[in-house]
Amino acid sequence: MKFFSSDKLKEFGIFFFLIIITILVLVVFSIQASNKNQNLEKINSSLDNTYLKKTLIEITKNLKPRFIYFEYTSKSGDTHQSVIDNLKITKEEKKEILNTILKEKKLKTLNVNQKFIFKIDNLSKEKIIEFRVETGKKNEIIFTKAFDGKKFNSKIITKNFIKKVVYKETVIDGSLYKSAIDLGISANIILEFARLYGFQIDFQRDIWKNDSFQIIYEEFINENKEVIDTGEIIFANLNLQDKDYQLYKYQYDENKIDYFDENGKSIKKTLMKTPINGARLSSSYGKRKHPILGYTKMHTGTDFAAPTGTPIMASGDGKVTKAGWCGGGGNCVKIKHNRKYQTVYAHMSKFGRGIKKGVRVRQGQIIGYVGSTGLSTGPHLHYEVIENGKKVNSQKLRLPSGKILKGKERKEFEIAKIKIDVLKSNLILSLN
Ligand SMILES: [Zn+2]
Repeated sequence: MKFFSSDKLKEFGIFFFLIIITILVLVVFSIQASNKNQNLEKINSSLDNTYLKKTLIEITKNLKPRFIYFEYTSKSGDTHQSVIDNLKITKEEKKEILNTILKEKKLKTLNVNQKFIFKIDNLSKEKIIEFRVETGKKNEIIFTKAFDGKKFNSKIITKNFIKKVVYKETVIDGSLYKSAIDLGISANIILEFARLYGFQIDFQRDIWKNDSFQIIYEEFINENKEVIDTGEIIFANLNLQDKDYQLYKYQYDENKIDYFDENGKSIKKTLMKTPINGARLSSSYGKRKHPILGYTKMHTGTDFAAPTGTPIMASGDGKVTKAGWCGGGGNCVKIKHNRKYQTVYAHMSKFGRGIKKGVRVRQGQIIGYVGSTGLSTGPHLHYEVIENGKKVNSQKLRLPSGKILKGKERKEFEIAKIKIDVLKSNLILSLN
């Protein structure tokens, strides 16, 4: 007997080979499977990793800017608390900011249109790291979080602004006021312009189509290029039916600034022709049928229709001789200017602040407001001029002018005038 026949050995070899193959396959599969599990575990554990989590938050956080600003302008009815309540911060932080504001003397009372700017730090638990509160056009208080992060330090700062001289001109289209507003001239300047020309021009009747004006005045500009205030008018010219009415600002003494025409004559007259701005002459001096009484009667004054509440100015310097009820004239004010002239203002809704019998008033000062008191069909000012005890037509008065520059003052004025004319040419050149 052959113990190991070659055939048997062959059979055994194949069998052995198959077993080895099977084991190898099993081993490879099991290694792969365990790798799979390990990978899954790795991914799961990675997602649980707080470090990665943190990184993701950092990444998304960094997509938003770290610092943002919140601006708020106070409205009527607001309190410091209601202003702060607009912020998305904790109660404790709100309280801290409120206390900081109230500790500042200048901020005890909240004004309407007061501007607040809060700087918010998105990465910090206590969000507000800085805030500013306006205390005027040119000042603000800035509060900055102290290093210890516990309280705010305050500092009053003057906002950066520059004075700029501007030139504007236009053809008057419709009303002077509208044309000026369209040019971006601020209301203060328009009112001053109207007041200065009020001595010689009736804005309702004297302005025709194609009339024009030029003006040079000062503006204060802040770092945001916003006009924060206006200064003085330096020059103006009103061209009416091809006639120029120029005025130059001139300082002829310490603290004495006035406006003069090109001949050195003050544009101020003893009395103003129109003691009200933006009004329409609705009834002139003369005979007319009285709108309430019905019969023809002498109208001894000039009526200017204007909305209730429009300010009425003293047409000249003088002393108030009456501020009270005048029957048909309603609430009225009477002013004695000098031995020759007196003026009367009737139908007022109310008197100006401090206006009562015996008080001295300056030309242009507000003495009352348009109304419809007494015998009146609608809000208007009834204006009378009394010359030597007799009522006269205010619109036809030849009024003596104010100061006329002479001698040394005149010479200095001529130099000041040339300087302004040069300034004007330069400003016009820079427009083109
Ligand atoms: Zn009248």
